[in-house]
Amino acid sequence: MSSAISCRICHAPVTRTFVDLGVLPLSNAFIERDQANAGEVFFPLHAFVCDACFLVQVAEYEQPANIFNNDYVYFSSYSQSWLDHAARYTEAMIERFGLGDGAHVVEVASNDGYLLQYFLQRDMTVTGIEPAGNCAAVARQKGVHTEVTFFGAESGRRIRDDRGAADLIAANNVLAHVPEIDDFVAGFGKLMKPEGVTTFEFPHLMRLIEFNQFDTIYHEHFSYLSLRPLRQVFAKQGLRMFDVEELPTHGGSLRLFVCHRDAAHADSPAVAAMLSKEKAAGLEDLATYESFATNVIDIKDAFLTFLVEARRAGKTVAAYGAAAKGNTMINFCGVGPDHIAFVVDRNPAKQDRLMPGSRIPVYDVSAISQHRPDYLILLPWNLRDEIVEQMAEIRSWGGRFVTAIPRLDVF
Ligand SMILES: [Zn+2]
Repeated sequence: MSSAISCRICHAPVTRTFVDLGVLPLSNAFIERDQANAGEVFFPLHAFVCDACFLVQVAEYEQPANIFNNDYVYFSSYSQSWLDHAARYTEAMIERFGLGDGAHVVEVASNDGYLLQYFLQRDMTVTGIEPAGNCAAVARQKGVHTEVTFFGAESGRRIRDDRGAADLIAANNVLAHVPEIDDFVAGFGKLMKPEGVTTFEFPHLMRLIEFNQFDTIYHEHFSYLSLRPLRQVFAKQGLRMFDVEELPTHGGSLRLFVCHRDAAHADSPAVAAMLSKEKAAGLEDLATYESFATNVIDIKDAFLTFLVEARRAGKTVAAYGAAAKGNTMINFCGVGPDHIAFVVDRNPAKQDRLMPGSRIPVYDVSAISQHRPDYLILLPWNLRDEIVEQMAEIRSWGGRFVTAIPRLDVF
């Protein structure tokens, strides 16, 4: 089937492997304990690179309507560092673009209203767009007007007609998750005011390669983005990238500023500088993509060796963070409850369920002080500092932290 894939951006046939992670369950398909005897559906997780435009992508194996249903259990507000990020974004955008009372701010993939709540506090009109009904319900409880729909040209036009055109649209960590990039991006052109701005945040492929972040690859994450292929996506819809910033989130993200082609926003030299930086990092050289898979196998070896040696030494190992990253890491490495006894997570919607594939049980964070593991693996390595601070108590019984990416680190 690999030969049947065409590039999501330039539509060229795509056959060149970036990394093949095998067959894995969907990362958010947590299992209820009373379903432990039922089977699971696994899908190939094989990332390809387009040798025409250098987009890295996984093929679409499951329809989004089946993924982002009411069982979707990711609530943004469970991460304090992500809330802090949202609050800083709000202040920065208000200052830079002079947004005043009554400005219309929209977020696409608004989750539980974690971002728009800050604009609401500043007396602006806010509209959230969120396909997961349970996330939208939580947002509405905060007073954040939220429409349960997928975003694209049609819904962009409809929301403009119903709620007014937008001064600012935020699209954080969603561009990589849409199967139809062209239609999705067209929606921003419909919804933005003539001088409006859209900001897109997404993990930068350059950092994924540099820091071996293969566990950010999962089925619902279709595209792995750099500026080079995106330039043509925006141009096709009459839009222009006028600035870009680097962010530390998710191991290295970009925040891209986009406006209508003829809007007055001046082009920042940062866009050309980032395109040059990508080129210097080898993103226009296929050899860069081809060496990635070898680095991934090295990480798997080191992680498995650590787990086997810990077990032989009679040590107990637990993990923190039942997120998509952890599921990719654990299932790709073929690890189960015999090597990682349990995973803890602050999100009650995941607790007392089993991780998909590995069937490792998920508990409340209090299980750590109860069971006192010798090692605590930090699966969301991007939240390392936050979690180390929260879980400092493990030092009191000699516990140590472990991260596997970008390389094995026991500390
Ligand atoms: Zn392409």
